[in-house]
Amino acid sequence: MASPVAAQARKLLRDLALRPPLLAARSQAVQLTPRRWLNLQEYQSKKLMSDNGVKVQRFFVADSAKEALEAAKRLNAKEIVLKAQILAGGRGKGVFSSGLKGGVHLTKDPHVVGQLAKQMIGYNLATKQTPKEGVKVNKVMVAEALDISRETYLAILMDRSCNGPVLVGSPQGGVDIEEVAASNPELIFKEEIDIIEGIKDSQAQRMAENLGFLGPLKNQAADQIKKLYNLFLKIDATQVEVNPFGETPEGQVVCFDAKINFDDNAEFRQKDIFAMDDKSENEPIENEAAKYDLKYIGLDGNIACFVNGAGLAMATCDIIFLNGGKPANFLDLGGGVKEAQVYQAFKLLTADPKVEAILVNIFGGIVNCAIIANGITKACRELELKVPLVVRLEGTNVHEAQNILSNSGLPITSAVDLEDAAKKSVASVAKK
Ligand code: GDP
Ligand code: MN
Repeated sequence: MASPVAAQARKLLRDLALRPPLLAARSQAVQLTPRRWLNLQEYQSKKLMSDNGVKVQRFFVADSAKEALEAAKRLNAKEIVLKAQILAGGRGKGVFSSGLKGGVHLTKDPHVVGQLAKQMIGYNLATKQTPKEGVKVNKVMVAEALDISRETYLAILMDRSCNGPVLVGSPQGGVDIEEVAASNPELIFKEEIDIIEGIKDSQAQRMAENLGFLGPLKNQAADQIKKLYNLFLKIDATQVEVNPFGETPEGQVVCFDAKINFDDNAEFRQKDIFAMDDKSENEPIENEAAKYDLKYIGLDGNIACFVNGAGLAMATCDIIFLNGGKPANFLDLGGGVKEAQVYQAFKLLTADPKVEAILVNIFGGIVNCAIIANGITKACRELELKVPLVVRLEGTNVHEAQNILSNSGLPITSAVDLEDAAKKSVASVAKK
């Protein structure tokens, strides 16, 4: 099924981690980092936070309406907040495919929690950060609601332009933070943190003040900010976003929402965190690709692209467009390639019925082209490839690779450069 443009865009953003947090995006050029950042659900992030001294509400997690009702009773709270768990933000203003409006609901009655959960679990929730059709909700969070007297915004992120972590905050947090960032950029405050020295008391205090915390709340907020920063470092986060970072009429500073992204390169030392990745919001084919260390992105057209590196993937898609074609997907092979990966890559690419041609565009810097060529010929034979295949290889061992391809007796079209490859693959589709 063809995914709408918005969904494609979202996938691209997510998978290429082309996602500077909203606030940073206003003031800096967009940055592209070719890797995926692990996301956790709010309840998982909040567990990490509460384990590290950060103030969050009491909560339970449920995956059925019955469980949600029981959890609501068990909470024994004056008021309850029920929150759909999806990775996208903007849930408060979202709409479910069941017709229910709002992914965040407050009620005093546990039975209402049960009724609302019934209209959430199993349905799609669409927000301004999801594809149009929304994302399926499998779990809800049932938490003790607290009154909020003020909503502020706080994020900690790794910012390349500052070569390190930055605190970003605004006294006007809540569901309209994007508008604040656009219309009142003077209400966005930043503190660059020296990663060696760590966060200074004066920085935490200044941010607390800029966020508008007064009297004893200022120290409390500063303490929470420091704890959040220490957590950020400890768990190898690339981003911790708390919106709202709120205060209650009783004088508590509380993290009402939580969004944490993690650096995939730290997986080796954050095994417990990466084990929490349930991948349920991924497309099955993405998960299959991930098993072989491949990154798959589905698109709308009919030319499959097999590339190495996110930059080359983008360039390949662009040049196909420029030549009048449309990419069906792209599969990024990354760096250290094994022959078996090439085989799996072809299997995934050809599993998509939209695919009418395959364009291989590999630039062998680290990659040895001969390994790619052997993988390609093996895959062509074993998968009995039915669609035209255009191959452009360049770099390490390219002559041996070309010999392997031309001596294979397989109907493989060689291309001398990217432009040539794009033209030939577009032509091969047009001929049909
Ligand atoms: P998001 O819309 O996906 O960012 O979800 P949030 O968790 O931020 O919730 C959306 C909004 O619901 C927040 O900005 C708050 O205004 C409100 N909200 C969330 N939890 C509570 C709560 O415990 N008490 C009150 N009074 N409001 C809450
Ligand atoms: Mn929020």
